[in-house]
Amino acid sequence: MAAEPQPYTTVILDIEGTTTPITFVHDVLFPYVKDHLQGFLADHWEESECVSKVHALREQADKDVAGGLDGAVPILATEGAPAEQVRQSVVDNVRWQMSIDRKIGPLKALQGYMWRSAFESGQIQGAIYDDVVPALDKWTAQGVDIYIYSSGSVEAQKLLFEWSEKGDLLKYFKGHFDTGVGLKIERESYEKIAQTIGRDPATLLFISDNVKEIAAAISANYQVAIAHRPGNAPLPSPAPGGGTVEADFDSITLPDAHDVPVIRSFAEVFTRAAFATSAGQRFKVDDLIHLETMFEELGREDGLRDGVHAGHVEGRVAGTEAGFAMGQEAGFYGGVADTYLKAAEMGLITPSDRGLKALQSLRVQAKEFPRQNYTNPDEGPDPTVALDKLRARFKVVVSALGPDALNLRYKPEDGVRQPMNF
Ligand SMILES: [Mg+2]
Repeated sequence: MAAEPQPYTTVILDIEGTTTPITFVHDVLFPYVKDHLQGFLADHWEESECVSKVHALREQADKDVAGGLDGAVPILATEGAPAEQVRQSVVDNVRWQMSIDRKIGPLKALQGYMWRSAFESGQIQGAIYDDVVPALDKWTAQGVDIYIYSSGSVEAQKLLFEWSEKGDLLKYFKGHFDTGVGLKIERESYEKIAQTIGRDPATLLFISDNVKEIAAAISANYQVAIAHRPGNAPLPSPAPGGGTVEADFDSITLPDAHDVPVIRSFAEVFTRAAFATSAGQRFKVDDLIHLETMFEELGREDGLRDGVHAGHVEGRVAGTEAGFAMGQEAGFYGGVADTYLKAAEMGLITPSDRGLKALQSLRVQAKEFPRQNYTNPDEGPDPTVALDKLRARFKVVVSALGPDALNLRYKPEDGVRQPMNF
């Protein structure tokens, strides 16, 4: 039996889907850039910050065009054409980059610059659910520390809360975390946060709409609650009235899914002093079968996405199909590593030290598999070389795991997952 959870001393909040509608970024922030770019450039064209942002965009555009990147839109030289035409080429370039959902430095810098100006001038206000400020007040009165953990940069988080529709909320927060501490679906990130703020994880309450994040926080022994807001991704069959999740997905990752509370309003948080933790609970073998499927699918999902990215966006070397296949294969190896490490952690398999080390290296290598085809080795590894290394590491894993890894191999032609022989 799990120990009685203790009251939490600290709350860590996700933003999108938790304090703020999940649609805010896609319905407000991104359209703002698309709709206001032309006028914004005209208004700020001579300012040094604008000049330097455009300069960085042009350098990137030159690289993209020189590299033969599919659909790349050139940016005219400032001295080569009337300002209006140059600006139009910037607009066309940025719209193209945003149409392929690029997350590259120069584009992000321009977006951040425009958003800052939009927030500061009041053209955009951070959307905040009505129950948030009362909850922040109550926690503050109770002496509960409040932090933010979001994949949006700390700078962007602060803009949203400083210039929110409910006024400046920054005073409530003791600190902010972004993916600088690690991805939100990884246990290590939550461990690092607990260390950084100097608290026992069991006294931290993490609230998010994303069940993968919730699962990661539970594995770091946090207390958790799932925020269920209008417009969020549906939780698999949530029980009416809050309280339980009866979900395939959750039963996979959460040791006792029925103890994970779903809240529809922050007010519900105050109806209990503490929330379930995973302490002392064990996965069931049945769950593990789901776990295996999930991890592999996650790996594949990532792989597919990266593959598509490598193929379509940066596919100078591999070309579309090769990029796709490479991403898929790398995703498979990552899924294997995650699954076996999880199984070992749960005591379902007991790999040798060598096996464990090999799995950990495989996981790291799969995670670091290049997201694009770098033309210059100083910028990043060549994906073909990286894939060869992954395959070699995978062989080491298979041999080190021995009977646990019988028949484990990548068979893309089947398009199906391999049995994992737990
Ligand atoms: Mg979220």
